[in-house]
Amino acid sequence: MPAFWVGIDSGKRAHHCVVIDQIGTVLLSKRVENDETALLELIATVAEIAEGREVSWATDLNAGGAALLIELLAAHAQQLLYIPGRIVHHAAATYRGDGKTDAKDARIIADQARMRTDLQPVRGADQISVDLRLLTARRTDLICDRVRSINRLRATLLEYFPALERAFDYSKKAPLLLLGGYQTMGSKNSDLPQHGTRVAVSPTVSCAVCDFCRIGRDNSCRNKKILGVHRWGGYAEYAAVPTRNLINIPDDVSFEAAACAATSYAIAWHLVVTRGRVATTDTVLVVGAAGAVGIAAAQIAALHGARVILSGRSASRLKPVADHVGAYGVAISNTSDYETQISVLAPDGIDMVVETVGSATWDSSLSFMRSEGRIVCCGASSGHDVKMSLRDLYRKNLAILTASSGTFNDLRQVLSLFDHGRLTPIIAQTYPLSMARQAHDDLALQKHVGKLVLFP
Ligand SMILES: [Zn+2]
Repeated sequence: MPAFWVGIDSGKRAHHCVVIDQIGTVLLSKRVENDETALLELIATVAEIAEGREVSWATDLNAGGAALLIELLAAHAQQLLYIPGRIVHHAAATYRGDGKTDAKDARIIADQARMRTDLQPVRGADQISVDLRLLTARRTDLICDRVRSINRLRATLLEYFPALERAFDYSKKAPLLLLGGYQTMGSKNSDLPQHGTRVAVSPTVSCAVCDFCRIGRDNSCRNKKILGVHRWGGYAEYAAVPTRNLINIPDDVSFEAAACAATSYAIAWHLVVTRGRVATTDTVLVVGAAGAVGIAAAQIAALHGARVILSGRSASRLKPVADHVGAYGVAISNTSDYETQISVLAPDGIDMVVETVGSATWDSSLSFMRSEGRIVCCGASSGHDVKMSLRDLYRKNLAILTASSGTFNDLRQVLSLFDHGRLTPIIAQTYPLSMARQAHDDLALQKHVGKLVLFP
């Protein structure tokens, strides 16, 4: 059991030292330079006071400013306890006297050391722990830096978009993507298109926060809603959509063309370019080429320099499409020599089939594929159930890519190409909204080529 306690309020240039006895009487209170000579004198003075009885030292720092003191006390076989600064701070409220002075803190440190039994001794560092500390310090710094930068990013993003807090998972190390376009409530209003601005609407209303939305794959959004399917819209004079679904229509692009862009062209772009990665060396077969997506896909593939072959049931409907897109050839699918027609047009096989027909043509489409070909599919007008041999798929290293809609970015691409006149949709006919029934009847007859567009 010690007879004296020495409290050291540690500092960079100097410490304050207070010595008390078993009833807390202050026997010494002095400022000591943080210097070897001065500290050795202090140790000698304390030894004189103690007259051979046990002394316990205590300090509020276990490194930094107290490092020299710790080493000297260890060299003189003195016991040193560590009192964290927050304990000193909390205890200070129970000691007399307002304000905070070094002398008061040193007294508190000594007194707490006298009364408490839960304080940990400070050991002088041995060589191994010094070596380890030096080796790991850089790593610790890196971790601290990373934590700081993540916290800062998190704080910044939450200022812009409070809903991110729930969606973000900070526990996994993954690429952090900073998405542009989010605005504070205040500035968002100023971003709203002015009344009278011509806008197209992306028909996929996404949540903007799920993992797919965060990487720009809003067409795979976990919470997506499609206009006209899950939400009201389309067949109306007015429809409400989030502003992030709006995209300005370039001045030279008509409403009819923009309507085609948002539906058939965006998904065709997604399949043929974004997912299918069409190349100039590809031979592309578009099955159901007189349909809206077929026309768009054929045009987009041709725009990328691919050799485009159109297939469909009606030569008269395919002819204007072939002229419009500059197709390499046309094959009629419901004839007995369909396969021969294709093999003449593409003796080496097909690199990409755009399938919009489904069960009626799936088998033949698959059989035309050359190795490493891609079948891209977004619809099945003739039926959804198909059979196929997995062996045929993997023997030729084939890929099947599908989509139900394009992304907002696909729509942006398509509209900019419309603006430059590099993509032009075929509009078969336009109707006022009051003639929607007539438009549906015409659609069912399938005698038209291109889009039927309703005007609200
Ligand atoms: Zn989403």
